[in-house]
Amino acid sequence: MDRNLYCKNPWNCLELNNDGKCFFCNPCFSNFNLIGNIFEDSIEEIWNGERAQNFRRDVMERKYTYCNYENCNGNKTENLEYNSTIAPLPEYINIGYDYTCAQRCIICRDEHQALPPEICKKWEDALETHILPITKNVKYMFINCRGEFFDSAHTQKMYAAIIANNPNIKVDFISNGIKCTEENLKKHNLLDKIFRVHISLHAATRETYKKIFRVDKFNDVMKNIEFISSLKKSGKLEDFEIMFVITAENYKDMPKFVELAQKLDARAAFSACIGGYAEYIMNRENYAVFYQNHHNYNDFVKMLKNPIFNDRQHCFLPDYLRELKPVSLKHSIKNKIKYFARTKLNMKLEQTKDDISIFSHDTYK
Ligand code: SF4
Repeated sequence: MDRNLYCKNPWNCLELNNDGKCFFCNPCFSNFNLIGNIFEDSIEEIWNGERAQNFRRDVMERKYTYCNYENCNGNKTENLEYNSTIAPLPEYINIGYDYTCAQRCIICRDEHQALPPEICKKWEDALETHILPITKNVKYMFINCRGEFFDSAHTQKMYAAIIANNPNIKVDFISNGIKCTEENLKKHNLLDKIFRVHISLHAATRETYKKIFRVDKFNDVMKNIEFISSLKKSGKLEDFEIMFVITAENYKDMPKFVELAQKLDARAAFSACIGGYAEYIMNRENYAVFYQNHHNYNDFVKMLKNPIFNDRQHCFLPDYLRELKPVSLKHSIKNKIKYFARTKLNMKLEQTKDDISIFSHDTYK
């Protein structure tokens, strides 16, 4: 990966995360290097304090000490556009602390989760004094990367207040799509505000969807996705992305997923992140098909040679996945035997050094 690029995020992005922690981007990308806390520090201390300036200086020198540079999706350019470690208030804000969601997909969580009322109150109490002032210059708001907007009365309330205070904000919107209907988008004053939509779908067929989301809602989601697609096709939406976290349960859907993106005028965005505390991470030796020691690894690598993945307009596939090479037949057979012993014979296998090193790709730590 070319480290000659400059990331713009530290000059214009702010992410509000759990317990008021502030970051320049997704904390998994910036290795949890926070720049301040919205409940404890002033806006100036957060945005132009010592930690923020050190981070910017490091990016200006292209050292990327604080960054997971290879895996992050930063806004990187060839030329350095900034000549100071001091920056005006952010233009892009990411409201990323509310994990409330009525679903429990295997990638993310095993239980339904909601932000406790006392935490909601803490954020709502800080609205006038801390949140609205820092959104003064904001042009784009990302909402809500950690949970589901339509399942959270709290996030809806925060969003309404921020938009009332700064009506020109454009919204970068993420949803699981289940309640993302035309009516709900209108009801929450989103229809005219959204400029980009990401739908976490992770499947191209109803059967696969059921395995990942543990509910039978694929057809409902597809109806809502068709509506979003119509916005994109009519030019009312700048960007439309359908998201796919790769697991052993869904990887065979990947070529079909790109076909779906082509039909919808969307981009299929694939990632191999392992996060959360769900079924997926607890049993990653069964799910992480992109690791060399997975029993279906060679099949996965072969599938990635499908020419449909060369349609870069409709497909984002990280380079490190494109570059994966098959393992030897001997290695592959060994993996299949281990899988059989673990799952069919219920044997508890000792992890070898090899097994552990295959996890070095993790984006989420
Ligand atoms: S390079 Fe990546 S990790 Fe670093 S600030 Fe940019 S987006 Fe974040």
